[in-house]
Amino acid sequence: MKLAVPTETRSDEQRVSIVPDIAGRLVGQGVEVVVQAGAGKRAFFPDAAYEEKGAVVRAGPRETTVDADLVTKVHAPTAAEVELLPEGATLVSFLQPAADLDAVRSLSQRKITAFSLDLVPRISRAQSMDALSSQATVSGYLSGLAAAVRLPKFFPLFMTAAGTVPPAKVLVLGAGVAGLQAIATARRLGAQVRAYDVRAAAKEEVQSLGATFVELELETQEGSGGYAREQSEEFLARQRELISNEVAVSDVVITTAAVPGRKAPVLVTTDMVERMVAGSVVVDMAADAGGNCELSEPGVDIDHNGVVVAGLTNPPSAMPTHASFLYSRNVNNFLALLIQDGELRPDFDDEIVVRSCVLRNGEVVNEAATQLLEGKGAS
Ligand code: NAD
Repeated sequence: MKLAVPTETRSDEQRVSIVPDIAGRLVGQGVEVVVQAGAGKRAFFPDAAYEEKGAVVRAGPRETTVDADLVTKVHAPTAAEVELLPEGATLVSFLQPAADLDAVRSLSQRKITAFSLDLVPRISRAQSMDALSSQATVSGYLSGLAAAVRLPKFFPLFMTAAGTVPPAKVLVLGAGVAGLQAIATARRLGAQVRAYDVRAAAKEEVQSLGATFVELELETQEGSGGYAREQSEEFLARQRELISNEVAVSDVVITTAAVPGRKAPVLVTTDMVERMVAGSVVVDMAADAGGNCELSEPGVDIDHNGVVVAGLTNPPSAMPTHASFLYSRNVNNFLALLIQDGELRPDFDDEIVVRSCVLRNGEVVNEAATQLLEGKGAS
């Protein structure tokens, strides 16, 4: 059984789906691992490190995937990448049917079986395969650092001979996996942290990190699988009204609020940014999904009356070594459900395998993808 690891082709992507250590583990299980030359370079995993672990390094994407049974990637494949997949091969990557519908169509034509790590159910047995969480951990950590380096002030309280500096006031909106990591990072740097989330469970988690939970007179918005549900415009308008004063008194606002498969809700308006003191910072981790701040633009730092609004894009790629280290472990744990005795034999009786499968031998088996392809929209 041959597993191919091509280089990610997105120009802003530095991660690799399999790191040398995991390649070695797979080789030990009898899998032939073929890595595209330079696939791990931007994450600081040289070709030689793969070869030392028994993987084969091949020159280009075509040579890498030509005879593969299984291909692992970080991002959903582009049309050109799908062309290079052998007919009937199996793909494991992030693949959101709503965002990657063209990829689903072309994978179907090539009779690919595709599993998406976006769709791994959030049950305890699948935690070790939860790539959304592992990559959100990286994003949250980075957003804390991104805020600290942009703020023209210290994060911690400083008592010096020259005088005492108060700690920075950080507000985190959205306390899921990334938000909690942003809180932890800001706390480690000594900031005074407050946080808000629409899910009730977030309160205790925020408090356990030594931050204060901001209570708003609003109903909680629980969805399924631990996620928030999509909120009405009326709810969001009320939330913005209630959170406005909290934003105004913060040195830093970090927004991480997402609703899976939907545009991110606007939590911070232009008016709210205008109430912040010059020198303050907004870090918008949801910039890729439309932004939680009205002013944010993906990949750009906007200066609005002296307030910097940083729209982070693809944050895990900015810390590619550990992001790849974690992603690769998630992939390997998932592959354990697909590979039996060195052979590719997915266990389709397993809930995790079934729910994360988007296409089986080219047939679209994911309900949301089927509805989108039939033009009925996602459920
Ligand atoms: P996410 O990235 O989809 O969303 C980020 C956060 O934004 C969520 O906490 C959400 O509640 C919040 N949010 C959405 N709209 C908001 C609004 N208007 N205002 C403020 N906050 C808003 O979610 P995620 O971080 O991937 O996961 C959310 C939660 O799911 C986690 O904190 C955890 O409790 C749970 N989870 C469970 C498992 C498991 O059981 N295996 C795995 C991962 C996560």
